[in-house]
Amino acid sequence: MTPSTPWASVIIPIKDERDNLSPLLASLLKVLDSHEHSRSRPFEIILVDDGSSDGSSEELDRLATLHPQVKVFHFDRNYGKTCALDAGFRRSSGEIIIQIDGDLQQDSEDILKLLPLTATHDLVCGWRQQRQDGIVKMISSRIANRVRNFFTHDGVHDTGCPLKVFRRPVLERIRLYEGMHRFFPALALMHGFTVTEVPVRHYPRIHGLSKYGMGNRLFKSLYDLIAVRWMMDRVLRYKLRDE
Ligand code: UDP
Ligand code: MG
Repeated sequence: MTPSTPWASVIIPIKDERDNLSPLLASLLKVLDSHEHSRSRPFEIILVDDGSSDGSSEELDRLATLHPQVKVFHFDRNYGKTCALDAGFRRSSGEIIIQIDGDLQQDSEDILKLLPLTATHDLVCGWRQQRQDGIVKMISSRIANRVRNFFTHDGVHDTGCPLKVFRRPVLERIRLYEGMHRFFPALALMHGFTVTEVPVRHYPRIHGLSKYGMGNRLFKSLYDLIAVRWMMDRVLRYKLRDE
């Protein structure tokens, strides 16, 4: 690590979020600029354009020319959120990695609540105690969380919360597969990392449309759970005698 290594990398998956991009970046830049670490070290904000077709791609390029901290990568088509996150993680170099959605449903200021806990925990998850989504999404998410907790015992209320802060080694250890971004706490615990959660605010989506619903999330997640449970049983854990 050198003084030019970013103290934090923010990773944002983007599919058709044109009108959210400018306000989102303004709030993130304000929050991160105000942080004491930014006095001595840089930070970076990485946006991965997952095949947007609403003008987000052009807007992202425009914003990147205005702010040197902003880096933009474009996929050649839509691959889904896990791919976008993975591409962002792999192109980041921050010591701390902050995951947030591009839909303005989270509050950038809540990052400041999560960050201090990285002193004691490897993964800090947001917990949307008062979710502002439609009734179907809220119910399906509650069922999924209950079932998941029964199988994984991760003890986290809201594993799907898009606001999370990781210490770098967590993401270096976890190999992602499609849909696995919904299981970060169980995957981190399985590798011996420490996990905690913090209540965060949540807002209704104002611009753009939600891309996930019952059909493409609830049933897929239940299927993915079998894979996660299997990995938990088979994970390699060993320690050298003198280590
Ligand atoms: N997203 C993405 N690729 C997709 C679908 C969504 O990168 O194929 C992004 C989207 O732009 C947003 C985040 O993933 O930043 C979460 O998507 P969305 O808000 O639609 O999901 P929800 O919050 O409704 O579950
Ligand atoms: Mg959303």
